[in-house]
Amino acid sequence: MTANPLHNAVVGLMPYLPRALIWRFSRRYIAGTRLSDAYRTVSELNAAGCTGTIDVLGEDVTTAAQVGTALELYREALDGIRDNGLDCGISVKLSEFGLRFDVEGCRKAMHSLLESARDHDNFVRIDMEDSSVTDVTLEIYRNLRHEYGRLGAVIQSCLRRSRQDVIDLMADGPTDIRLCKGIYIEPEEIAYTDANDIRDSFSEILDLLLKGDARVGIATHDPVLVERAEASLQRFGVGKDRYEFQMLLGVTERLRSRLVADGHPLRVYVPFGELWYNYSLRRLRENPGIVGHIIRNLFHRQ
Ligand SMILES: Cc1cc2nc3c(=O)[nH]c(=O)nc-3n(C[C@H](O)[C@H](O)[C@H](O)COP(=O)(O)OP(=O)(O)OC[C@H]3O[C@@H](n4cnc5c(N)ncnc54)[C@H](O)[C@@H]3O)c2cc1C
Repeated sequence: MTANPLHNAVVGLMPYLPRALIWRFSRRYIAGTRLSDAYRTVSELNAAGCTGTIDVLGEDVTTAAQVGTALELYREALDGIRDNGLDCGISVKLSEFGLRFDVEGCRKAMHSLLESARDHDNFVRIDMEDSSVTDVTLEIYRNLRHEYGRLGAVIQSCLRRSRQDVIDLMADGPTDIRLCKGIYIEPEEIAYTDANDIRDSFSEILDLLLKGDARVGIATHDPVLVERAEASLQRFGVGKDRYEFQMLLGVTERLRSRLVADGHPLRVYVPFGELWYNYSLRRLRENPGIVGHIIRNLFHRQ
């Protein structure tokens, strides 16, 4: 991928910058390092009319012990959400449950988490990672969703396959999909790379979902897509029980407030955890476009 040399320079510099400085860039997007930080953030969001979804930072774990730790933290999060009376679900990455080194172990960990979520009557969203795991992630979702009603998946509009994936998922019964553009940089053979093509794919898939038997999380901060989504919601007369907008913590807060003021359901993705540092560096390496936001933050404090 070609990137702006300034972006490349900042990405190259990141590992050598003090953690405190990286934290200054990242803290707006991350609730903190402890679960109590996530609860506090979600509580503030609830008071502002938004629901939340808590993400325990971590992915691509390599040992069963790490899977166990992640599972424990998610269970604790489910307890905390209930005990604090929060309006909040959880989002998980399958690679945090060992997908890349033990698919069967990952399935078992998901079963176990979903049992806990069912006991708590809470919702679990399986985040989507890069295209090397799209098939297995959707397969695990398909196998689990009939057993655990409150389970959702993610579709990335940048992938050429996504329209068909949505058709297949809907043919298999009611489904709950978060639709996003996709954060990972993917090869042109399998992914749209032009920003307008990714947008058009998003709108086309969104309309398919809204017309079908699906509940949709419209996960974007792109004002063009938000406007198109609002038009589709109105055109198809979609009820508030069938959709919500979703945004990342700390991003486009003005647009978020406007949507809430207009009466749209809106959920905020709240990442937290000790692994914020690796997560931040990895996000930057994977998508140097985000560096633009960091550079802006550096020179233009709001
Ligand atoms: C709730 C939620 C969950 C997601 N889950 C996944 C997932 O499971 N898998 C996956 O691949 N991707 C996921 N994403 C990321 C998504 O795929 C996009 O990469 C991301 O949302 C940026 O695309 P956009 O539609 O917001 O449009 P963009 O055009 O990228 O952004 C529109 C505007 O939003 C602002 N903005 C966007 N991102 C940032 C940022 N990080 N920091 C500061 N400002 C920003 C900028 O002002 C920008 O101009 C998720 C996104 C959201 C909102």
